[in-house]
Formats: sequence, structure tokens, C-alpha cells
Amino acid sequence: MAMALKRRGVDVRVIDKSPARSDKSKALVLWPRTLELLEIQGCAPSFIAAGIRGRGARIFAENNLLAHVRFDIARSAYDYALMIPQSETERVLEEQLADLGVRVERRVELLSFKDNGDSVGAVLRHADGRDETFDASYLCGCDGAHSTVRHGLGVQFQGSTMPSDWVLGDLYIEGDIPQDELTICWMPDGVLAMFPMGSKRFRVIGDVGTSTLPAPPTPTLEQIQEMLDTRGPKGLRAYDPFWLGGFRINERKVKDYRQGRVFLSGDAAHVHSPAGGQGMNTGMQDAFNLAWKLAMVWHGHAAATLLDSYSAERSAIGDQVLRNAGNMTKIALLRNPVLRELRNLAAGTLSRIPALRQRMVDQLTELDLHYRENSPLTQSPRGAAERPLPGERAPDIGLKGTDDEVRNLYALLATGRFVVLSVDAPAVDLPQGTRTIAVAAIAATDPAYEAGHVYLIRPDAYVALSARAGDDATIIATLERLEAGT
Ligand SMILES: Cc1cc2nc3c(=O)[nH]c(=O)nc-3n(C[C@H](O)[C@H](O)[C@H](O)COP(=O)(O)OP(=O)(O)OC[C@H]3O[C@@H](n4cnc5c(N)ncnc54)[C@H](O)[C@@H]3O)c2cc1C
Repeated sequence: MAMALKRRGVDVRVIDKSPARSDKSKALVLWPRTLELLEIQGCAPSFIAAGIRGRGARIFAENNLLAHVRFDIARSAYDYALMIPQSETERVLEEQLADLGVRVERRVELLSFKDNGDSVGAVLRHADGRDETFDASYLCGCDGAHSTVRHGLGVQFQGSTMPSDWVLGDLYIEGDIPQDELTICWMPDGVLAMFPMGSKRFRVIGDVGTSTLPAPPTPTLEQIQEMLDTRGPKGLRAYDPFWLGGFRINERKVKDYRQGRVFLSGDAAHVHSPAGGQGMNTGMQDAFNLAWKLAMVWHGHAAATLLDSYSAERSAIGDQVLRNAGNMTKIALLRNPVLRELRNLAAGTLSRIPALRQRMVDQLTELDLHYRENSPLTQSPRGAAERPLPGERAPDIGLKGTDDEVRNLYALLATGRFVVLSVDAPAVDLPQGTRTIAVAAIAATDPAYEAGHVYLIRPDAYVALSARAGDDATIIATLERLEAGT
């Protein structure tokens, strides 16, 4: 959030009560849609350099290969899952921030805050016990599942805790196991999943049934080895653990991600099963959704009503991610032999149907996320293109006739403005007044877009609306409304 705001010229302070960034591998996957959004921030290569490319996933049931899904069918320049420990993701983010001149203020805790209508007053406690009062224009609570900001707002974190306990090991594995693919084993006594991190390092997770203990048990290396022996491919040996731990799955979410000048993003707004590896990705995408809107409003380039779309859009996505991750977990944990048999049959059959395989990959990679409904920013005027539809992701595309530095759409979006993109049509002559929030560009015919149309593309690479070439007035009127807030 801080990086995306600072890149758009907004003054930010990032405070964190913890003395150091996480040294745990926690969220392991950056999916293609997040990589695309990081590309727009100009920093995807730094993440890619710190991770390895996960090429696919294999699902086994009782030692039979049920499904083998390759990610290279993802319709993105990033046709893989970037496997990168969260400790590395946090390092790269901190370095990016430092390059922008922002230092994370560590051992500084938010104690309380008050929305004064035209600012937010916050009380911060420093490491030496000193309390500081600070007035900010806005407050973004990116402060995790136990969020002080959420508690301060008095917002309900609705949901429940799943009944099963899980164990995890971050360790090395020797044996016959793909180093660039996820391996998932559905066994009668539980599930085992192994995620590669490179150089034989893996994250292993498995469920260990329900318990009445106050906290989930921390496994020993021997217990992880036993799980590999009983549930995994034959002949694997686990050694040199970095981290052994236990966890329970919470499925909780707030309804509204905003109250006045205060916003919630990431785990502060939603937590769910790690199945599908969407948690951190969804949180980052919350930030990319809000940052450009906040920047335009903060600079006075757009009316404050633009901020209304944040909660509407992201809360709907949060609901969808919770539903999908919950379903994936329940399917993996099936115990009834008849249902297991049906599940295995269905998974094996469905994964061989190309259209369904594509849908599965589109969902995992988050390339199919859209704001077609539930968004005040999405409009479908008469003559709107069908590819992509208003509200859908805008794929990257080469541009014509721009300077050499900006050869593609995503590079132009990095300027933080809307792009008015004419595909196989003349450029739109934008009125001077709209040029602080929009820039015009043209592209040649491309299968991802419908020729003869003009698209209004948001700074986070979603289509707000489109119109037939020549209907410039519809696009211009929308930009003028965004500025005026009408
Ligand atoms: C075992 C495990 C596996 C996971 N696997 C995946 C995965 O594969 N893919 C995926 O996408 N996600 C995964 N996740 C989830 C992912 O780790 C979280 O979604 C992500 O860390 C959330 O980021 P966040 O910034 O919202 O919150 P956090 O990472 O929790 O950060 C919150 C920060 O706020 C600070 N803070 C809290 N309160 C205050 C306060 N009052 N004042 C100042 N600072 C405060 C904390 O110190 C902390 O640094 C996994 C999580 C776990 C535990």
C-alpha cells in the first residue's frame, strides 16, 4: 500500500509494532495477476529474481495421479506461480520502499485513532514508551488478522474456525519429487501438500484431525517424516527444518472495508484457508485497488466519491476468495469413502477437459477476478466491447506511436492515470481538464481486445467501460464525472 501510494506522490508513514519483518516463509505463492500488478508498480523483476517458477500442480489420491495441471496455459506474460517465501517478499517490498525514500518505522504501535471528518488523529507508542499524536489524511489498517484498526472501528470479523488442526514444516526434502511443481496427496486419513521453494526446500502441510487442545500442536521432524511416509510419494526424506508449526483455519471477513477516512486491507479484512494460496495475493490486490483511488483523491484530481468503490469491489472479491478456498479445503478433507470415490473420479475426469482445466487455472492465477458487478466504476453503455467486458481485467497490449520508453499498456498505467485506449481506431482527443487523470493511447488489432473500440482502462488494469470508436463523448463524460464527483 505504502509503495503504491508513494509512487503516486502521496506522503506516507508506515508503522509496525514488530521489531523486524517476518523471517517465516508463510505465504509462498505470488500468482500471475499479482505479478502483473507488481509490474505496473515497476518492481515485478525484483520478486522474480528472488523466487522460483512453479510450473504446475499434481494431485494424487491413494498414490494414483488424478490430475496434472500446468500453469503455462495462464493467459498472461507470467504463466507460472512464483514460489517465493514471504520473508523474501517482505524484504523486496522493504527495499522498494527504501528506494522511494520511505523507511518502515519499527517498534511503533498504533494505540488508538479518531476520525475527525477531515483527518484521522492517531496515537502512536514508540519503543522508548513515548506516545506521539499524529494527524493523517487517511488511515489504512494493513495490520493483520488481529487488526487494532478493525477493533477500533468496532467492525465485526464474521465467520468461524474450521474444526481440524494442521501442521506445517518448512524443511528440505530428498527423494523423487518435482522441484518446480506443487504436489498434493488426498489420502483416506488426511491431506498432504508440498510446495517447492527451490534447492530442495519445501513447505509441507497436512491435517491431523480435530483436537480439544487450546492451540494446534507443533509437530516434530519425525512426525512430518511419518506424514510423508504414510501420505506422500515413496522414499522421501525430510531434514533440516527451518520452521515447524501448527495452525487452524479461520474463515472470517468484514462486510465493509471502509468507514470514513479509515480503510481495512489484507488479513485485517479477510482471513481464510491457505488452500489456493490466495491470502496475501488478495491483500496485495486490495492495496493496489485502493492506492490509485486514494492518490487521485489526495492530490485533488478526483472527487472523494471515487473511494466508495473500494469496499464495494474488494468486499465482493473477498467473499468469492473465502468461498473458493473453503470449498477447496472441504473437498480435500472428505472422509466418507463414497464421497471420496466420487471426488476422485470427478477430479480425474474434469481435469482432462481443456475448458475446465483453463477455468481452474484462470481461478487459481486470479486472472479471472473482475468487477463486472458490484462496482460503481463499471459501466456497460450501448456498443461496449465484449472482449474484455467492462469490469474485467485489461490484458497488457503493445501500444503504437508512443515514445520508446512506453511501449505497452502496463508501462503507461504506471503513470497512475486511466488509459483511454483506442484499438484499431483513432486516438481520443482528451480535453485539457481530464489530462491529470487520463492519457490517450492507441493499439493495433489484438485478439485480447475488440477492434474498433475505445476502452477506459483503470490504473489497476481493469476495464471501467468501453464504447464504439467515435463515441468519445461517453468516455470523456465518465472522466469528467470522476473529477466532479457527480
Ligand atoms: C502458515 C501460513 C501459510 C500461508 N500461506 C499462504 C500462501 O501460500 N499464499 C497466500 O497468499 N497467503 C498465505 N498465507 C497468508 C499470508 O501470510 C497473509 O495473508 C499475509 O501475511 C497477510 O498480510 P498482511 O500484511 O495483511 O498482514 P500481516 O502479515 O499479519 O502483517 C500485519 C502487520 O501489522 C503489524 N501490526 C499489527 N498491529 C499493529 C499495531 N497496532 N500497530 C502497529 N503495527 C501493527 C504487525 O506487526 C504485522 O507486521 C499464509 C499464512 C500462514 C500463517
